[in-house]
Amino acid sequence: MNDSAVAARIARTVRADIRALTAYPVAQAAGCIKLDAMECPYPLPDTVRDAIAATAREAELNRYPASDQQALKAEVAAAFGVPAGAGLLFGNGSDELIHLLIQACCEPGDTVLSPWPSFVYFDMAARFDHARFEAVPLTSDLELDLPAMLAAIERTQPKVVFLAVPNNPTGGTWTEPQIRAILAAAPGLVVIDEAYQPFADGTWMPELLAQPNLVVMRTVSKIGLAGLRFGYLAGHPAWIAEIDKVRPPYNLDVLSQAVLRTVLRHKDVLDAQAARLRADRAPLARALAALPGVQVYPSGGNFILARFSGQPDGNAVHLALKTRKILVRNFSAAHPLLAGCLRISVGTPDENAALLAALQDILSSES
Ligand code: PMP
Repeated sequence: MNDSAVAARIARTVRADIRALTAYPVAQAAGCIKLDAMECPYPLPDTVRDAIAATAREAELNRYPASDQQALKAEVAAAFGVPAGAGLLFGNGSDELIHLLIQACCEPGDTVLSPWPSFVYFDMAARFDHARFEAVPLTSDLELDLPAMLAAIERTQPKVVFLAVPNNPTGGTWTEPQIRAILAAAPGLVVIDEAYQPFADGTWMPELLAQPNLVVMRTVSKIGLAGLRFGYLAGHPAWIAEIDKVRPPYNLDVLSQAVLRTVLRHKDVLDAQAARLRADRAPLARALAALPGVQVYPSGGNFILARFSGQPDGNAVHLALKTRKILVRNFSAAHPLLAGCLRISVGTPDENAALLAALQDILSSES
C-alpha cells in the first residue's frame, strides 16, 4: 500500500479543520471501575433481560424500521412526561439530535452559542456542520454568567442556544429566572438539554408550548441504557416538523426501538436505579470534599466535578487512579476554568468506596 500517496490525497481532500482534530476520546475500560462516562453502573435485572430477549426474537430484521413511530411516541411521551400536544423526534442518541438541530437551523457561518465549559459535542457538532461556535465563559465559580450570555446573544444573534441543565461537566443547574431571560433574549431556538434531569429537580417540559422558541432534549443514556443510543427531542409540533426534515430516514434501528418499548414497560427499574445514584451522590460529594486540597462543586447530575488544587495535581491524581484501574474523566487541560478538575460519575456503593480509598491513598502518600 502506498501510504504517502494516500496521505497526499487526504491532505488535499479532507477538510483542514477535521485533519487537525483528534477523535472523541473513549478510554479502554476492560477490568476497570468505570466512573468516567456518567453511565448507570447497575445492569438490568434478569426479568427485564428475558423480556428483551423475547422482543429481539420477534424483530423483523429483514425490513427497514417502520416509518410510523406513533406507538413508540405515545409510550415515550407517557413514560417521560412529555406534555399533550407537543411533538417528538427521536435520535440515535442525543448526539445525533444535536446535529439535526444545527443542520436544520444554521447556514454556514451562523452562530451556535452555549455557556462554557459545557458538553463538548455542542462545539464539535457546530463545527462539523459549518456553523460558528460561540462559547460564553462561566464565572470563576462555574456559575452561569447571565450578563455575559445576554451580551453574547445580542452581539452574535445565535440561531441555536444550547443550555445543558444540569450542566456537564460542572454539574451546575441554571436557575429559572436565568433561563427565562435567555429565552426572552434569544432570536432563534433555545435547546434545553436535560440529559441529567433524572438526577435533578424540575424540568422545562411543561413550558414547551408556552414559549415560541424552546425545545427540550433528553437521553436514556444516563438512566441505564447508554448502549441503546436513544435520545428524544420534544417541542411545538411545528418546530419538530422542520427538524425532522434533516433526520436520516431510518436513524433508529428495529432492535433499539423494540428493546426500548420493552424496557419502558419496566421503567420503575430505571427510576429506582436513578434514585439510588441520586441518593448516593451527596455522601460521595461530602467524602470527596473532606479530602485534602479537594474542592467539590454542587451537582444536579449523576457525577461530581472535583478540583484537586494541592499536590498531587489533577493530572497526577487522574493517572494514579488509572494505574489502580479506576477511570474518571480529566478536564485539567480542557479549559482554564477547569484546571485540576476531574469529573467522577457516581458508581455503586462498592465502586464509590474503592474510589475514595484510592484517593485517600494517593493524596496521603504523595503529599
Ligand atoms: N447532552 C449532554 C449534556 C451530555 O452530557 C451527553 C453525554 N455525555 C449527551 C447529551 C449525549 O447523550 P447521548 O448518549 O444520548 O448521545
